Amino acid sequence: MEKVSKRQNFLKKGVMTLSVACASLILLSTTTLEAKGPLTTEVKTQAVQKTSLSEERINTVLKEAYEKFKNNQDGKNADYIKALAIVDSKIFGITLVTPNGKVYEIGDTKAEVSIQSISKVFTACMVLQEKGNKFLQEKIGVNATGLAFNSIIAIELHGGSASNPFVNAGAIQATSWVEAKDSKERWAKIYANMDDFAGKKLNFNEEVYDSEVNDNKNNQAIAKILDARGRMGSDPLEATTVYTKQCSVNVSAHDLGVMASTLANHGTNPKTGKKILDEKHVPKILAVMATAGLYDNAGDWLYNTGTPAKSGVGGGILAVVPGKMGIGIVSPPLDKFGNSVRGQLAAEYIIEKLGINPLAQ
Ligand code: GLU
Repeated sequence: MEKVSKRQNFLKKGVMTLSVACASLILLSTTTLEAKGPLTTEVKTQAVQKTSLSEERINTVLKEAYEKFKNNQDGKNADYIKALAIVDSKIFGITLVTPNGKVYEIGDTKAEVSIQSISKVFTACMVLQEKGNKFLQEKIGVNATGLAFNSIIAIELHGGSASNPFVNAGAIQATSWVEAKDSKERWAKIYANMDDFAGKKLNFNEEVYDSEVNDNKNNQAIAKILDARGRMGSDPLEATTVYTKQCSVNVSAHDLGVMASTLANHGTNPKTGKKILDEKHVPKILAVMATAGLYDNAGDWLYNTGTPAKSGVGGGILAVVPGKMGIGIVSPPLDKFGNSVRGQLAAEYIIEKLGINPLAQ
């Protein structure tokens, strides 16, 4: 008799454990159910977080971010490249793209600006893909410089090397190492790679290119020093010209959102289904983005958002929430570091309100 009741108790406990487990699973896989019954606080928290990513919630937060920051007048367009100074400062577009290709957007998401430094991410991806992780780390470097993105002295301070692929020195170096028989083929490959990330043919901004290529002495000097130190993979002046071309490709917030989502989706473009970067290289490029993606404000950015990101002086920002979201924002006025003012504010707001800071998961 006693044996039977022990067994019944055991079975009863088993059934209870099983129903708690099932309840947890149901809560985690839906967006509408409320936590009921004997659930732990941990499970409730997870359920709430999942709920916060409903389509309605994403659209609400996106609208809030847009309304809150659209009239912000801080910062100003970059003017050291003359064509950037005349871009419409009012452009403000935000696009979020999930790894399964769902797009949420608001504002001027089709307005195009030159990609500038954000292109450095995609050329570095090509070096990872063609030459491997070690090559990028050893030949170019993956440390922050603590100095301006176009610094020449940083090269000397780092033993005659660039310190990462997102400062101009490292970016021109990365461009020089893309495998090709000549600079024409190198440029074609770099352009096609950015198209693949965006899932469309991107436009080329002749005006920005002309403005920059005729005023490019600092970048040429950087390339020549690196060449003298045996760090370049091809002719330094040709590589500088190809680098200037890659910076002159036009992107919209929508394009940046898709490009970011390709990294959030482990290297496969959710729009086209094309695999562009091997999955094993994705954490490597994201690590450099986390360390050095927002110029001398990279630490504050990571502190505020926890996301690997990259900005450019054209006013674009691309941020990646691995496995969850690609974020693309365009707004030309920049802060003193060279990062889009509205872009940073909007991204920080969205990441915080949606609870998608990767370091808080
Ligand atoms: N093409 C620009 C330069 O070389 C890129 C700068 C940037 O966006 O950081 O100065």
